[in-house]
Amino acid sequence: MVSLEALFSELNEKHFDGFLDAPVLGWNARLRSAAGRFIPGSRKFFRDVPPRIEIASYLREEAEAETHIRDTLAHEMIHLWLWVRRRPYGHTAEFLAKMKEMGTTRYNPVPKLRGPKYVYRCPSCAKDFPARRKLGVLACLDCCKREAGGKYDRRFKLVMVAQLR
Ligand SMILES: [Zn+2]
Ligand SMILES: [Zn+2]
Repeated sequence: MVSLEALFSELNEKHFDGFLDAPVLGWNARLRSAAGRFIPGSRKFFRDVPPRIEIASYLREEAEAETHIRDTLAHEMIHLWLWVRRRPYGHTAEFLAKMKEMGTTRYNPVPKLRGPKYVYRCPSCAKDFPARRKLGVLACLDCCKREAGGKYDRRFKLVMVAQLR
């Protein structure tokens, strides 16, 4: 897998005339709501914090991972490019114009997240609870509310009924 640093240099040459200094680049394993994010730095001279670009780790597991990673990094680099030039760095008209110029049609693509790995079920009402990871001791909230005054009641303890993949 190509490194973020290598991709950054490539995109920097191709779309920004090599103008951009590399920010702190990293993978973020907790990021799931977006494919990537740009975190502006601080320019206060006594507390100089470099800008960061984080790319969601899960992209590495997607089909066509490199395309997703490249597109996401390119997107975040537009935020960086605006910020460095002290422009409003949200999804402004200028942002969109640059995106178009770069031939990027995607809008910070979030590939379909991997589905749940486990399915738990309430033994009482049979409601299913898909989960990405193994759940500890949890009970069905609806049933506990209805029948146990909102307190945990082991009659409604969720049981794993399926393990996917
Ligand atoms: Zn964005
Ligand atoms: Zn229930």
